[in-house]
Amino acid sequence: MHDATQRIMDRVIQLDSNQTEFIQAVTSFLNSVDKLVDDIPQLIYHKVLDRIVEPERAIIFRVPWVDDDGQMQLNRAFRVQMNSALGPYKGGMRFHPSVNLSILKFLAFEQTFKNSLTGLALGGGKGGSDFNPKGKSDGEVMRFCQSLMIELGRHIGEDTDVPAGDIGVGGREIGYMYGQYKRLYNKSVGILTGKHPSFGGSYIRPEATGYGLVYLSAAMLDAEGKNLQDKSCLVSGSGNVAQFTTEKLLKMGAKVLTMSDSSGVLIDPSGIDEEKLAFIKTLKNVRRGRIAEYAQKYKEATYIAHNGSATSNPLWDVKADYAFPCATQNEINTEDAKHLVANGIQLVGEGANMPTTLDAEQILMDNGVLLAPGKASNAGGVAVSGLEMVQNSQRLQWTPAQVDAQLLTIMKNIYSNISSAAEKYSTKNNFVDGANIAGFIKISDAMLAQGYV
Ligand code: NDP
Repeated sequence: MHDATQRIMDRVIQLDSNQTEFIQAVTSFLNSVDKLVDDIPQLIYHKVLDRIVEPERAIIFRVPWVDDDGQMQLNRAFRVQMNSALGPYKGGMRFHPSVNLSILKFLAFEQTFKNSLTGLALGGGKGGSDFNPKGKSDGEVMRFCQSLMIELGRHIGEDTDVPAGDIGVGGREIGYMYGQYKRLYNKSVGILTGKHPSFGGSYIRPEATGYGLVYLSAAMLDAEGKNLQDKSCLVSGSGNVAQFTTEKLLKMGAKVLTMSDSSGVLIDPSGIDEEKLAFIKTLKNVRRGRIAEYAQKYKEATYIAHNGSATSNPLWDVKADYAFPCATQNEINTEDAKHLVANGIQLVGEGANMPTTLDAEQILMDNGVLLAPGKASNAGGVAVSGLEMVQNSQRLQWTPAQVDAQLLTIMKNIYSNISSAAEKYSTKNNFVDGANIAGFIKISDAMLAQGYV
């Protein structure tokens, strides 16, 4: 790293030494864009790199709500408005007990480059709360969402900041938040994406992240003369991204051997077919149950509960051709990466944000595994959110086929942009560098043009 870049890294560590996830995301980014510093010295002189690692704004607020027993409950919520150089802040809301400022800053940072890669006019942001929707009634979730929107509402807007879903925030939560916003401001405008199609949602938004991941991975494989037909795949998670990744993999002729949730791992050597996937969708989206139930119904499958002290995840030690981490950050560590390599994995397509640790990433790339980094490969979700914003502002609704076709085009363009950036500034097939650099160049042009703000 150049001294000037290293100083920026040191400052981030000095200012927020406890924000480990954010530091990890900045390290990966600075390692890549440092390769541009000789070509574009303005990045240092105009302090573009200094500014890009600092959120434009971070809002922290309390969310008081009353549970079904009449007890008062309190949660903390956040909205990180990271960068608006390209357009309104855009990025999901996460409801999970682990949520804190470090996690949301890392997600907002990643989101900024991801949104740039989509080619749409979207800035980067992210938000959420340490509220745990698990085990809560619909009424409790509704009251929490309504209370959260009383504060969040004043910071967002269709031209300012447009949140969407993420872990723990799906159609139900978006609906409750949207309803409360409308009640507070008396406006039917696109202040959230991921809405139901009956009130301004885009078709294909729920599917978009998973479908987009498979489209980008297929493009990457195609360039190597490979494809998905009859290939075995590992998928982790069983939420929105995992479900639609599995659905599209099945449509493209692949076989999916695994899924998981925060309690454990499911391994089905006979493959998770359409019927079994439908069972998982009802289990997770309607009954909000545990994946362990799958192994009770389908005896050919094995369920392994997570062991808190284990150093590796058995899901990543199943022999397969391709792997798609779709649960959460840092779910593939160095041990897992070694298992994947030993088992001959050829591609890791990241559906989750930053699911691979920095060291694990290096092991995969050193061993010739194609690594599709989340900020490129899971960009389909925000891309269709961007298309939802366009439909909302025109008061139009496109057909599922129209949206899916645009999603495919966007993912192919992202592949083409990150692979050419990798070849030009780094090495062929270093898609981590390619995604960081291609995403960053557009933002830095916009920041330079807009002055020191
Ligand atoms: P969901 O809440 O729908 O699903 C998350 C899944 O991951 C669930 O199966 C959950 O298990 C599991 N999970 C969550 N935390 C952990 C953990 N600490 N350890 C093990 N398993 C865990 O979220 P999404 O599918 O929307 O998001 C998944 C990932 O994809 C996240 O990294 C998110 O940031 C990223 N992403 C999502 C986008 C979207 O459009 N939704 C867009 C781009 C990226 P359980 O069922 O037990 O809760």
